[in-house]
Amino acid sequence: MSTIPPKIRVTVWSEFRHEKLNPKVAALYPQGMHQAIAAVLAQHADFTVRTATLDEPEHGLTDAVLDETDVLTWWGHLAHGEVSDAVVAKVRTRVLEGMGLIVLHSGHFSKIFKALMGDTCSLSWRESTDKERLWVVNRAHPIAQGLGAYFEIPIEEMYGEPFGIPTPDELIFISWFTGGEVFRSGATWRRGHGNIFYFRPGHETYPTYHHPQVQQVIVNSVRWAHSGVRIKETGPNLLPLEPLPVDPEAAGRSIIGHR
Ligand code: ZN
Repeated sequence: MSTIPPKIRVTVWSEFRHEKLNPKVAALYPQGMHQAIAAVLAQHADFTVRTATLDEPEHGLTDAVLDETDVLTWWGHLAHGEVSDAVVAKVRTRVLEGMGLIVLHSGHFSKIFKALMGDTCSLSWRESTDKERLWVVNRAHPIAQGLGAYFEIPIEEMYGEPFGIPTPDELIFISWFTGGEVFRSGATWRRGHGNIFYFRPGHETYPTYHHPQVQQVIVNSVRWAHSGVRIKETGPNLLPLEPLPVDPEAAGRSIIGHR
């Protein structure tokens, strides 16, 4: 008899502002980008999915919600500065304890990504008519499953190097754009016990989150980021498990030191 593994509990977070301000974005994502992403994830039986947005109390990321989140996805752009430092600190702690984090597109400049990377996270960009070709440079990686050698997004915002990130633990995608630039568009890091994945595509005025390969990457990355652990490091001053051999010299120093 096989047991059914517990479902991966995903919280899809978005600032949900462009959709209210720009009719072009609202037409692409009538319920918001977070609902479009959540709907994709909800098609998979191994996920339970909820959403959270900036304008909810505590940005929808209360302790109760974070307690029930195995993997958090993050999309922000206009309002990075409105995300409270207290919520960022809580999310950072959860990641270090083992919660997975998927940072999408302009989330590269979010407080939480910068805090976990410890770097500028800056890049160059152009919003025009570039095509993006994402080369899969690590085809055996779980995040690349089902993709082939590369895939293309017909129109996307360009992000170019240099990207101000620490050297990734693993690089999954490198993008090429029609204008000639390249970018490390899919990269992973481990921070504490938490798995972090940055995924570049997702500019709000293009239908990127309706693109099947982009959806596949997000699904794959949520599965990959799920660690199944939540480890609180308390760092106690430990008593030895067994009697330690007596070092007369050290004992002498200790006595002198405490006199
Ligand atoms: Zn953008």
